[in-house]
Amino acid sequence: MSVAGEFEELYGAAPEGVWAAPGRVNLIGEYTDFNDGFVMPLALPHTAVAAVSRRDDGELRLHSADVEGGVVRLDVAALEPLAGGGGSWAAYPAGVVWALREAGHAITGADVHLASTVPTGAGLSSSAALEVVTALALNDLFGLGLSRPELAVLAQRAENAFVGVPCGVMDQMASACAIEGHALFLDTRDLSYRQVPFDLAARGLRLLVVDTRVKHALGDGAYAERRAGCEAGARALGVRTLREVPYAQLSDVLVRLSEESVRRYVRHVVSDNHRVERTIALLDAGDAAAVGPVLTEGHASLRDDLRVSCPELDLVVEAANAAGALGARMTGGGFGGSAIVLVAAERAASVAAAVEKAFAGAGFAGPKIFPAVPSAGARRE
Ligand code: ADP
Ligand code: MG
Repeated sequence: MSVAGEFEELYGAAPEGVWAAPGRVNLIGEYTDFNDGFVMPLALPHTAVAAVSRRDDGELRLHSADVEGGVVRLDVAALEPLAGGGGSWAAYPAGVVWALREAGHAITGADVHLASTVPTGAGLSSSAALEVVTALALNDLFGLGLSRPELAVLAQRAENAFVGVPCGVMDQMASACAIEGHALFLDTRDLSYRQVPFDLAARGLRLLVVDTRVKHALGDGAYAERRAGCEAGARALGVRTLREVPYAQLSDVLVRLSEESVRRYVRHVVSDNHRVERTIALLDAGDAAAVGPVLTEGHASLRDDLRVSCPELDLVVEAANAAGALGARMTGGGFGGSAIVLVAAERAASVAAAVEKAFAGAGFAGPKIFPAVPSAGARRE
């Protein structure tokens, strides 16, 4: 049944509308967004779809087709960070309502039913898809007139302050602002962005997502540690953020850092910002295939300098490149989750088979592999 049909069965009337917001995969620019740096995600064809109607009695009803437990009922006026959703999935959409109300928008309640095809916990941002679809639906229904970047920032605030996850703004911006056939070049310092043509099919290319289906516990504290290390690096160099360090000065600034780990983190962030700029130049020149080696370089930096990779992600990159891929890297926070592989279309199947074979040989569970087609951002259906 359609999401609208399920809504009607659940709440007894047709929804006022249906909205969709995609998950994303990040092409290049990792661990740069909390350093005011550059990122370049693209939206996936996988979306969170929400059927929504307004209520005027202060009640928020939330339901997901993808989780057990029935309808969650909340009082919008009583929503509180880390309490209103009780740490459950409902905290993501409830957090958006909270953030909108905190920003002074009169959200008087809603009925929400959603279903998502974005794999959860695979580093493809199922959480941002949930937040952005909720934010866009409420923006339209309550006539708030907020821009896409404004909705993304509110969605990020919901995740940071209400759910309690310290993510950057890349995921929400990608889900809210991406367009089909393009990657989104985002400058996280001021949220300015540009749609960069990334028509893989026209170039005879494929971008594969390899979901390793593992999540290592190490990841939880590592993000905070890397973030603190980057901030320490910026302080030591007398800049507000590592974004202010030009790539041309990288070797000069590295010798000024005494802490070995901070040196590595700074090298990663400054060089990954530069890799984003190189990627844009290549795509603007119509040479998408040449992005491959930049991805592999980025992986080495994440593995050796930032140290956020894991054996499964390293194996994807190694096996894909050995089988003739143009390049590959882990994407997202690391310690599991997904990798991306850029490959000529005619080699996609054999490269995917080689990765599967390598995983079986290493005794790892089978990965999930699918093509990332640069897709549209959030929209009303
Ligand atoms: P990622 O964003 O990488 O997929 P997160 O841990 O940030 O991983 O977000 C996953 C969480 O988002 C899930 O644990 C769940 O709480 C929520 N979520 C995602 N998709 C759905 C869905 N379809 N229905 C309910 N909750 C969902
Ligand atoms: Mg997430």
